[in-house]
Amino acid sequence: MDYVNGPGRHHLFVPGPVNIPEPVIRAMNRNNEDYRSPAIPAMTKTLLEDVKKIFKTTTGTPFMIPTTGKRQSFYGSLSHLSEVRTLRIVDETDRVGKSPLSVPPVIPINFYCGMTISLIPLGTGAWESTLTNTLSPGDRIVSFLIGQFSLLWIDQQQRLKFNVDVVESDWGQGANLDVLESKLATDHAHTIKAICIVHNETATGVTNNLAKVRKLLDDYGHPALLLVDGVSSICALDFRMDEWGVDVALTGSQKALSLPTGIGIVCASPKALEATKTSKSVKVFFDWNDYLKFYKLGTYWPYTPSIQLLYGLRAALDLIFEEGLDNVIARHNRLGTATRLAVEAWGLKNCTQKEEWYSDTVTAVLVPPYIDSSEVVRRAWKRYNLSLGLGLNKVAGKVFRIGHLGNLNEVSRKVSSRGFIPSLSIMILQRFRFTKTGLQLLGCLAGVEMILKDVGYPVKLGSGVGAACAYLQNNIPLIPSRI
Ligand code: PLP
Repeated sequence: MDYVNGPGRHHLFVPGPVNIPEPVIRAMNRNNEDYRSPAIPAMTKTLLEDVKKIFKTTTGTPFMIPTTGKRQSFYGSLSHLSEVRTLRIVDETDRVGKSPLSVPPVIPINFYCGMTISLIPLGTGAWESTLTNTLSPGDRIVSFLIGQFSLLWIDQQQRLKFNVDVVESDWGQGANLDVLESKLATDHAHTIKAICIVHNETATGVTNNLAKVRKLLDDYGHPALLLVDGVSSICALDFRMDEWGVDVALTGSQKALSLPTGIGIVCASPKALEATKTSKSVKVFFDWNDYLKFYKLGTYWPYTPSIQLLYGLRAALDLIFEEGLDNVIARHNRLGTATRLAVEAWGLKNCTQKEEWYSDTVTAVLVPPYIDSSEVVRRAWKRYNLSLGLGLNKVAGKVFRIGHLGNLNEVSRKVSSRGFIPSLSIMILQRFRFTKTGLQLLGCLAGVEMILKDVGYPVKLGSGVGAACAYLQNNIPLIPSRI
């Protein structure tokens, strides 16, 4: 059985890893270099400066941690194979629940030239780096359990011996901020050292309101650190590190940055850096002080980075800045809205229980009890060359997920003021800065409709695609570079 190739283009709609833009793939297709030459530190310096922009911070200090991803990520990169080898890996499905895809013990894995793959998960590494640099074992922290990724983070917090107040909500709901408020109101001695929150819970498609969390901390004059998992939000959803007083924010290269798995990016506020001075947690690989030492020396890397990924990151950031970060966020809003309209037209329910929590990067779709959502995912892959996200843990079999983040369509060029285009046209075009189409998304939605019919759900073919089209057709402007 061939686990790699399918006819035509693979449609990758898991909520990370996501499609990698061609310019990024090309930028990474290069030889190794001496990372101690003047070139790599010079590039790293600009990357560290530029990466702050995606967190919307001027005061934060970023750390780019070379960790990489789990088996699921390998599937993500399979659609971009240029060279295939085989590698024996252990089945890692236990972390996220049983996968319905029968994975053989030997699967083909892509190696970009020179890029090595280890099995240290990258969001998970960024979590650990955040906790162990700012806190000490025994510290009291408040952590919200709203889905599989917040659950895994809490598991890590407990295993690192923090004293975790778990605030649990139904899967499909956001963080319970009333409970947080009551904890802050009674914590006169400031025993709570940190609030840990997943901005966007990828398992259920729930986005939490970080501005509200900051306001609560400010209202009670509480000094707890605000530690935020932005793995499936940063670079796609509105995220404002400085404005929201986030102390540590983290993301991973395989999500909205649209790179291969391989870099965990963590950004620390001055207050978080101050906290490192009293943190007693054991850390070696993740110790920010090792990075800071090398930042001072101007060589930047305490250990060997992936040269190819650094070039990829440069290209990825260039594409994002070219489109404009706010336009990227607006594009994700359109993709999220179109997907939700399709789900409604199919007569299905969003796992996310209230509009205020709707996620613009992932939609978890509830199926009726007589359908196993894992079968939807299995069919998508086996019949339509489409990858959808599984329901994880508590919602396994009940939801399938449509990831709509990252590089979903081609990036168009900004209109140049040089050349023959008169300035009036430029002004008009500036109004239409959203230059991406939803056509790729429509392919996915069409696939889902056929699969729903396959598994016995009485969907009207074209209903969801039609609803999404009607919305997108009214909201997508012309591509300025093609006028
Ligand atoms: N946090 C969130 C919100 C995620 O969606 C994920 C992975 O999908 C992670 C953390 C864990 O990332 P990784 O699997 O790279 O460790």
